[in-house]
Amino acid sequence: MQNKMISCPICSKEGKPDFILGTYTVRYCRDCDFRWVENLYEEKLIENSGYYWGKDFFEKQDNYLRQIWKREIENIIEISGRDSGNWLDLGCSYGYLISEAGKKGFRATGVEAVGDVAAIAKNRENLNIVHSLLSGLELPAGSFDVITMFDILEHLQYPAQSLEKVTKLAKPGSLLTIEVPFEGSLFRKLSYMTYRLSRGKLKKFVKGIFHEHPGGHRLGFSQKALDRFLKAYRWEPLRFEKTMMPFRFFMNETFRKRNPLQRFFWGIVYGTLYFVSILIGMQNRIKVYAKKI
Ligand SMILES: [Zn+2]
Repeated sequence: MQNKMISCPICSKEGKPDFILGTYTVRYCRDCDFRWVENLYEEKLIENSGYYWGKDFFEKQDNYLRQIWKREIENIIEISGRDSGNWLDLGCSYGYLISEAGKKGFRATGVEAVGDVAAIAKNRENLNIVHSLLSGLELPAGSFDVITMFDILEHLQYPAQSLEKVTKLAKPGSLLTIEVPFEGSLFRKLSYMTYRLSRGKLKKFVKGIFHEHPGGHRLGFSQKALDRFLKAYRWEPLRFEKTMMPFRFFMNETFRKRNPLQRFFWGIVYGTLYFVSILIGMQNRIKVYAKKI
């Protein structure tokens, strides 16, 4: 089996090595404005929720997460023009999105690769959750009206095969929503600058963006990359939105494992960058709504 992805998964041209990060390398396709980790590993189901960086946080923020998803469901109803049908949420985590979609009248199915997370969600509300990787997922073709992929695509090793599968599962005219970390974010541009100015010696910040471990972030999408990628698999992007990770999540992630002095220092630095990102339109996430053609 090939253990490196040299060609751009979107256009198949050879990518140039962009960040050499010791044991792994990030490649870049100029035509697509797209980055990916070239090193591959064997994908497998993950049985332990310790994998989630935000496990404690997610479990305790039930109401807050439900509020976020209720707003998102309203967006999707407005854009798709439908308020019923089959909803598939890939990477459904603790299942709050499918729970709320179910209350709105959709027949909602979630797919989750982390076994004990899937079990917690199932036991809490008897939700329809399939414990599977996207690559091994067996559901009827052409059966979903709405498919959502929040914070999942950037973790996948084989984005082309994954999106091809999503296209197969979708009905004609259905709506796909994808949200991923944004390549054009201020945080990323500054991190890349630290690498380039140090001539590749300062790898820390880029290593925080692209990971080599299974389940880490492997893909970096610009708006151009998302647009090309979707169009290649019969999806017409209707709307792109740059968004910011909610401040509570952001601070939770930033301050994990830091001592009080570091918290104070990084709180000021990151807090300032957070709000400047919004002011100048370089948010850290991008969301797209696309229709199957
Ligand atoms: Zn490309």
